[in-house]
Amino acid sequence: MGEPPDEDIRCFQHCQREVNILCFRVPDFCPICKADVRKSASRIPPYLIISPFTDAAQTQYSVVIKPTIGTFLRDYTNQSNLHVGVTDSHGTVYDYDEDGVNMNSPGWDKCVTLDLTQGVSDKFIRSWDENLLVFSQHSDWTKCRYDESSWNCFDFVIQFLQALGMDQVYPQIRNRSTFCQEFVRPKTYKAAQYISLYRDIKQLGYVCQPSQIT
Ligand SMILES: [Zn+2]
Repeated sequence: MGEPPDEDIRCFQHCQREVNILCFRVPDFCPICKADVRKSASRIPPYLIISPFTDAAQTQYSVVIKPTIGTFLRDYTNQSNLHVGVTDSHGTVYDYDEDGVNMNSPGWDKCVTLDLTQGVSDKFIRSWDENLLVFSQHSDWTKCRYDESSWNCFDFVIQFLQALGMDQVYPQIRNRSTFCQEFVRPKTYKAAQYISLYRDIKQLGYVCQPSQIT
């Protein structure tokens, strides 16, 4: 809806090995030595920094995470509430909120994803879609049962994974606090670093960083 597309972050080194220059568009002149970048060699030519955000439709058997309001790049802060869902084999998102269970609700095109199928046996995967459909229709997940703090999207996701028996493979799924601490937190922490870099570049045009960081 008239939103400009998010820009990709590029990284290059012009004259100094210790300094990465991060930008959306390579500046005409090197911020360090002031040489014309088009007319001089760069130590490392621009390459794309992989965004931590994925379109949920492109995922399978994943936990998907986004801010409850808005998008990561524009709206996320450390205080943001997060909304989580689960995708099936076709990338259809199931999530639970005050309207009950939604399938393919909008707004999941730039989310953070957790692929939980690593090291999981086929047994879990084969029954995933069918179980998710049946699970989501259970009377536990009606809109009247929804409670913002005690019965919400996290309970839906965790209980589904437990119903599948995934907690045998991932003990972190056994309760909400370990799930958040050990699964969600590391992902949003990484996303937050990218977001902060993105916003700095948006404001300043480019950012110079010691090369060990990126
Ligand atoms: Zn330079």
